[in-house]
Amino acid sequence: MIPYSTQLIEEDDIAAVVEVLRSSHLTQGSKVQEFEEAIAHYVGVNYCVTFNSATSALLAAYAVAEIGKDDEIITTPISFVATSNMAIALGANPVFCDIKMDGNIDESLIEELITPRTKAIVPVDFAGKPVAITAIKALAKKHDLLIIDDASHGFGGDINHQKIGSHADMTIFSFHAIKPITTGEGGAVVTDNEEFANKLRLFRSHGIVKKQLWNSDMVSLGHNFRMTEFAAALGLSQLHKIDRFINVRETISRYYNERFKGHKLFLIIHLDENEQSARHLYALLLNPELHCVKEEIFTELQEKGLGVQVHYKPIYQNSFYKKHYGEQRLNTAEMFYKSELSIPCHQKMSMDDAQHVADTVLEVMEKYAYRGCSF
Ligand SMILES: *Cc1c(COP(=O)(O)O)cnc(C)c1O
Repeated sequence: MIPYSTQLIEEDDIAAVVEVLRSSHLTQGSKVQEFEEAIAHYVGVNYCVTFNSATSALLAAYAVAEIGKDDEIITTPISFVATSNMAIALGANPVFCDIKMDGNIDESLIEELITPRTKAIVPVDFAGKPVAITAIKALAKKHDLLIIDDASHGFGGDINHQKIGSHADMTIFSFHAIKPITTGEGGAVVTDNEEFANKLRLFRSHGIVKKQLWNSDMVSLGHNFRMTEFAAALGLSQLHKIDRFINVRETISRYYNERFKGHKLFLIIHLDENEQSARHLYALLLNPELHCVKEEIFTELQEKGLGVQVHYKPIYQNSFYKKHYGEQRLNTAEMFYKSELSIPCHQKMSMDDAQHVADTVLEVMEKYAYRGCSF
């Protein structure tokens, strides 16, 4: 099975982890700080605070932004549930904005959703494609809102040669196993705001500040959301490879683009000249006449060894959201969900693998094409 995404762990990654396992500090040593400095440098920001997952990083970012009871964030329904869940965990409400057919929030629809309770705009760089940050920044400035970018797919991507993470007030990365680089489980918030960075560190570790000798003081409520030293060592080792990983994913994506260009049964997502996607996912968008056979296509691709997946069911369709927020329907999000199919694209694939994936996708799509769907 060729999964839609997976990690690439090499001997030097393993050696880096083993070295820490043999050392005195498994947690709260110097590796986490080294990893944070390296990420901040790579992204081009002042601060990076790591966490044990992007989910806890999201919770921390919302908390230090003082998003709380009855506040609102404007976000996308085409994401992993953690994006909006963590706002709800603080008593806030997610307001879902429709998307564009590239999977990213539709910046032209955000303004009408702003209320006096809106605190932040929370876009997601879907599949690693940067969101329309210039327009979103203008809106945030006009309405005095924060931008908290969930770039769990986006580490290493850029827009106008500036990395994802250097534009928003806070940006979240995920280092889950299948994300652009990995620490097993892990995440980070990057920011240029020193006050946010300090509060994020407190939130991560019990809200405790060291005074002198044995004396410490707990100044705010916090958690234990720390990353381990061996996770950070793995992250550092992986970070050295991010450009190579993106290059491999980019080469595969361009090869797919060539093979699939102008196809009559499905579309591909285009990038602008000034954008570099992190290429976390490669998404196909099935034409409506294939929607009624998507389950068959999905199953057959899986049977043929392609670990395809669908990203994502609109968050508001989950039963928890229906129960608390009622039925919602955003047209493009619905259409995107019906159309989207993520096919394998990751740094562990060879070009032979990519050719096999493309051949198999084309063969299976064409097999089902004749059946068509009536509307
Ligand atoms: C993976 C992901 C998360 C959660 O990341 P974890 O590190 O697994 O907590 C959040 N948001 C998006 C968009 C993701 O893809």
